[in-house]
Amino acid sequence: SGTYQFVVVANRLPVDAAEDGGWTRSPGGLVTAVHPIVRRLGGAWVGWTGGADEEAEPFDFDGMHLHPVGLSARDIDRFYEGQSNATIWPLFHDAVEQPVHHREWREAYEAVNRRFADATAALAAEGATVWVHDYQLMLVPAMLREHRPDLRIGFFLHIPFPPVELFMQLPRRADLLRGLLGADLVGFQRPLAAQNFLQLTERLLGLSPKEDRVEVDGRTVTARAFPISIDVDEIEELANDPEVREQARHLRQELGDRRLLLGVDRLDYTKGIEQRLKAFHELLRDGTVTNEEAVLVQVATPSRLRVAQYQQLRDRVELEVGRINGEFGDVGRAPVHYLFQSRDRAELVAMYLAADVMVVSPLRDGMNLVAKEYVAARVDDGGALVLSEFTGAAAELDESFLVNPHDVEDLKRGMCAALAASPQDLAGRMRTMRAVVHEHTVDRWAKEFLDALADVS
Ligand code: UDP
Repeated sequence: SGTYQFVVVANRLPVDAAEDGGWTRSPGGLVTAVHPIVRRLGGAWVGWTGGADEEAEPFDFDGMHLHPVGLSARDIDRFYEGQSNATIWPLFHDAVEQPVHHREWREAYEAVNRRFADATAALAAEGATVWVHDYQLMLVPAMLREHRPDLRIGFFLHIPFPPVELFMQLPRRADLLRGLLGADLVGFQRPLAAQNFLQLTERLLGLSPKEDRVEVDGRTVTARAFPISIDVDEIEELANDPEVREQARHLRQELGDRRLLLGVDRLDYTKGIEQRLKAFHELLRDGTVTNEEAVLVQVATPSRLRVAQYQQLRDRVELEVGRINGEFGDVGRAPVHYLFQSRDRAELVAMYLAADVMVVSPLRDGMNLVAKEYVAARVDDGGALVLSEFTGAAAELDESFLVNPHDVEDLKRGMCAALAASPQDLAGRMRTMRAVVHEHTVDRWAKEFLDALADVS
């Protein structure tokens, strides 16, 4: 065994390659929350660098020991783009796209998970705590326990966990379930996901779950919800930054005297971008809104571009944007501003501040951090949030305009209600939601998970 008392295992290391050949810390709440804990405990982080480099050597970064797991181009194809993002991702999101099954992908997934587990086993000290993250690494807990029964193992799933009937479609489904059962604590975004998981142990393995626990091989595995959140202070600081505010004003000026509807998503079929465009298209066609009154800005961040379903989605979205702009636009004034680009946090906060209505309409989403960021950014208590019921965030942000994005009429109703609401009504809703987001920060999430892990094991 190794020397590290705390090891994080995630698909990606918490760093991005910098232009000068070095590394910078990656943005995002998970890294922000977990980095101080790893640093304080002098811990290690096992993960992929994001490139096709099988030879990357371990290195120290900002008080953490980073241990790269190298992936070949073929691993990236099969383990990452294949089994992780074309099989498990769609299946766990209600199969809103047809999951694709290939034996070679599944074998690569197992082989790569084995390498993550072996690297972790070699780094972790006797009795260490190991925290494994997300759907790319679901076999790791059991693989790790096999060699290292002394470890305290936690697993957190960032995406939804599907209903039993859907999970049953997966080839070799019991392997994946047994993989997760290697952990002492399995964390989910929502109580329903934890229930799905426990029911599955009964249906597939004949176990007898009680409350939030199940006995397996003489051990107890606990399954519970720990809804993830954001770095509220970071977002508020940006929202109060004079430069960001100036950027927001500038954006409003550019768009003229129109109400601004905003969407910010990775270009992913789970996000309901097509449904949102369809709803906006119909509102223009019905004459409920006109191009003079309203504009939709859609940031669609490029994502998983080598996966076929994502290329097809991009084509469909771009066709629809073109149709709407062609039908309802004018010279110098388009109803949809579509940005197939990645924007940094400061630019996003400027957009959040400028938006009258934020439209978050995923068909299924584990949490949706964009919704929480929008609320955190509205330090002015302005703006309205239209939010899909099928996001984890909806459980906490029930003062938003909740919609069923599968029902275009309902989505249109939500958007219209948000546009028509009085400033007083909106300010009241936003204050309530801001209090919720303040209560549940990502630091608290990490602490609660690790406290629970210490408790149960
Ligand atoms: N994000 C970003 N730039 C972009 C689009 C998104 O930095 O151009 C960030 C956004 O601020 C949020 C995260 O990416 O923190 C997206 O998280 P979310 O839970 O909404 O969706 P995911 O992409 O994880 O499915």
